[in-house]
Amino acid sequence: MTREEKTEVWKNSLSKTKEKRKSQDCKVFTFKLDRDKLTKVKLSYFSLLFAEAKWVYNHYLSQSDIFHVDTKIDKVNALDKDRNPVVHELKVIGSQMKQAINRGQISNIKTLSSLKKQGETVGRLKFRSRVDSITLDQFGITYKLDGNFLRLQGNRSMKFKLLGKHQIPKDAEFANAVLTRKNGDFYLKVTCFVPKINQEIFPSEAVGIDVGCSTALTLSDGTKYNVKFPVSKRTRHLQRKLKNKPSHKIKGRKSSNCWKLYGKINRSIEKTSNCKKDRINKIVSEIAKKYKNICMQDENVKGWHSGRYGKSVQFSSVGGIMRALQSKAHTFTEVDRFFPSTQRCCRCHERQKVGLEERIFVCVHCNLVIDRDWNAALNILQEGLRIRLEKQLPTERRNVKPVELGIPANVCKSFTKKQEASVFSEPMETLEFTRQRPEASAFRQR
Ligand SMILES: [Zn+2]
Repeated sequence: MTREEKTEVWKNSLSKTKEKRKSQDCKVFTFKLDRDKLTKVKLSYFSLLFAEAKWVYNHYLSQSDIFHVDTKIDKVNALDKDRNPVVHELKVIGSQMKQAINRGQISNIKTLSSLKKQGETVGRLKFRSRVDSITLDQFGITYKLDGNFLRLQGNRSMKFKLLGKHQIPKDAEFANAVLTRKNGDFYLKVTCFVPKINQEIFPSEAVGIDVGCSTALTLSDGTKYNVKFPVSKRTRHLQRKLKNKPSHKIKGRKSSNCWKLYGKINRSIEKTSNCKKDRINKIVSEIAKKYKNICMQDENVKGWHSGRYGKSVQFSSVGGIMRALQSKAHTFTEVDRFFPSTQRCCRCHERQKVGLEERIFVCVHCNLVIDRDWNAALNILQEGLRIRLEKQLPTERRNVKPVELGIPANVCKSFTKKQEASVFSEPMETLEFTRQRPEASAFRQR
């Protein structure tokens, strides 16, 4: 087969895949490797695998030309604890894992270079003391899913039990995966293409949401959501224990008991944050499925972190919920930050002063008695609907995302929302990404 024929075949298969992807959704599923089934042999295999990934990473970085490195090496140069040169033999890491490490480095360098062209100050890639994630490129070759078990390239005889395999629908198509290590546990994140399901049926049209300190969310239909996940008792107990460890106080090498405590604390904190994530996901999906249009006030949540209710705001992670709702909602309307949502009466629209402590709103003009947050939510809904009518905002969901248009992610990052909107209204051919940072003198003049 000549070279041109090969390109032809490759192009055909690419266009076929593109056509297929239109009817598919890209999703990432996370599995945990069953800790009870990880024997000592398997654990030592993993620690060797991640250590080899680190050696390979540092070895490639030390090469003069990182774009053309030998990905078939089986020996790498490294330094030991006392900085003496040693040669490590690679025993367990697969060839595609090495290629993926090199590819990751190249893409990082390209990102840095394009950032530099935009005028940002960038450093260089650094040697790593720890590598905690390994990309597994090809399903069936780098990694295999064999029922509830995972097999990795280079060590087919060993299998690892996965938890949570039931999440994957039957007709899913597997793409690449990432093996990660976190707090002594191992996770596999698999990217899948699943058939699109159109869930565009909404029982209700629009909702206004008020965000508050005491109750996290209040909807205009009267529902209230409380999200509070303070630091757990166990975490606090462990942290107190750590305070009394002598080697924690001084700089330098820690005792093994100290390290054990660090691990325990990290795992305990992670448990709380996982509970929080789960609760938030459930709330957000419930609201986004029920309502087509979500109206919210653009609040300065960062400003709330200090002050009297600071802790309770942090524990409820109101900002995270707001961001998630913004991205998940079918259509999202933002009400201005200075709209007096708490001071206005939702029935007669008259304004009056309301103290911070008053939980119940009593209108002096029309004698309406209503819960303070509910009143605010109703006001936000009314204002949001008015804005929609006035600006004639589209009722269709904006489907085009920068990733789908093939624009590199690092370029998208530097656009604010307004710029993005103006960019995407233009045809693709005329696009030029020449955004530069304003000079320092421009700031001074202001
Ligand atoms: Zn009133």
